[in-house]
Amino acid sequence: MESKHILEVRNLKKYFTVKTDFWGRPAACLKAVDDISFNISRGETLGLVGESGCGKSTTGRTIIHLYKPTAGEILFDGKAIDSLSAEKQLRRAMQMIFQDPYASLNPRMTVGDIIGEPLDIHGLASGSGRADRIAELLQMVGLNPGYASRFAHEFSGGQRQRIGIARALAIEPRFIICDEPISALDVSIQAQVVNLLEHLQEKLGLTYLFIAHDLAMVKHISTRVAVMYLGKIVEIAGSTELYNKPQHPYTQALLSAIAIPDPLVESKRQRLLLTGDLPNPINPPSGCRLRTRCHCAMPRCAEQEPALIDIGAGHMAACHLHPGH
Ligand code: SF4
Repeated sequence: MESKHILEVRNLKKYFTVKTDFWGRPAACLKAVDDISFNISRGETLGLVGESGCGKSTTGRTIIHLYKPTAGEILFDGKAIDSLSAEKQLRRAMQMIFQDPYASLNPRMTVGDIIGEPLDIHGLASGSGRADRIAELLQMVGLNPGYASRFAHEFSGGQRQRIGIARALAIEPRFIICDEPISALDVSIQAQVVNLLEHLQEKLGLTYLFIAHDLAMVKHISTRVAVMYLGKIVEIAGSTELYNKPQHPYTQALLSAIAIPDPLVESKRQRLLLTGDLPNPINPPSGCRLRTRCHCAMPRCAEQEPALIDIGAGHMAACHLHPGH
């Protein structure tokens, strides 16, 4: 039977050794991703949000095996990705769109070769079939098929991101990790790229993990949203529920930082600000990692780490303020 979830992440950890001792053994580790679990259902978009350095991009790169997990399990279509053959299958089913459309496209390659490269690697098309497929992909992302002979540097940021999306779609993946795909773009272009991703999702039945540093960016596209802080997921809920009833002090602070376009409402708002800087992830605070910046912190928060638990109808939060902790 087909698994309900296209992706299951169980107790995933990704540590980077930043210092070794005299004998070359790890002496200090950066715990970029520290024991996180979540699922993504077919056809949904999970938004993954947090400040820079919270581990969200490392999560995406570990899922797609650009980084080897330190511990934990990643299941795709109900099967563990724990062998080379499973990884090869994954390369076709899962693709990634990167943040910086300027850096992620080779400036010496034509647009046609950038999009056609995955077709060559997987032996999926050649000759006129390859050219037809490239033209089809360019049209699919709203670009003129005649652009195939031009170079990426001739295009704007938004157009380059469309080229990156066409490349990701070339081998017909079912799951795409979008790693901050709109953060480097002008605000006026961001909505166009989000609309394109939504249109493609509907047309091709895609599932997305959509990574962003700002809750405002994922609001429109996400079915559910997971919020990360210092390597941990602190809250997961349906998108509307999370925006209307945030339960974790960190999510509340992130939402409070989003400007409201109405000047009257904006002037009357009370902002919940996080105090201080993001602690060093090599040596995170004991107990709850937010406690050094949380306006609700109490003595227990320094002693005991709150687990991520269901606080009602699938809304999960990791905070001692909630019953059950
Ligand atoms: Fe704040 Fe304590 Fe909740 Fe952490 S557990 S978010 S420090 S109240």
